[in-house]
Amino acid sequence: MAVSAARGLNIFFDVDNTIITWDVKLRPGVHEVFRQLRTDGHTIYLWSGMGPRWEVVKRFELHEHITDCFWKPLTDHHARMEELGIPVWPDYVIDDHAEIIEAFTGLHVPEPKLPLERDREMWRVYDEIQRFVAGLG
Ligand SMILES: [Mg+2]
Repeated sequence: MAVSAARGLNIFFDVDNTIITWDVKLRPGVHEVFRQLRTDGHTIYLWSGMGPRWEVVKRFELHEHITDCFWKPLTDHHARMEELGIPVWPDYVIDDHAEIIEAFTGLHVPEPKLPLERDREMWRVYDEIQRFVAGLG
């Protein structure tokens, strides 16, 4: 599926160890970066191998940013999109598991570092998305 810079991207974020820590703390910058991505015209989704994570959306008050939540395919990624009821194609994915990045286009992030307040990974995600969009021409 061709990606055009003329429209925003469908950006899919993993949940565990990507936007939250193993002990369910929100990664620094999630609100700020999600807001900026939406301002830039992108659409943000969450997906997880544990299912649609509305409890995370609710807990951290992310409703205004998140268009939908889905199950994430853990195997046969492309083939299982329809079966999992995912109606849009991920133009860009962010995940702590490299396998997903190999199946789609996107960015691998390490799990949040401690001390958490020093973790700057979300801003790196934003910069990389900017770079990706610029490269689409
Ligand atoms: Mg994860």
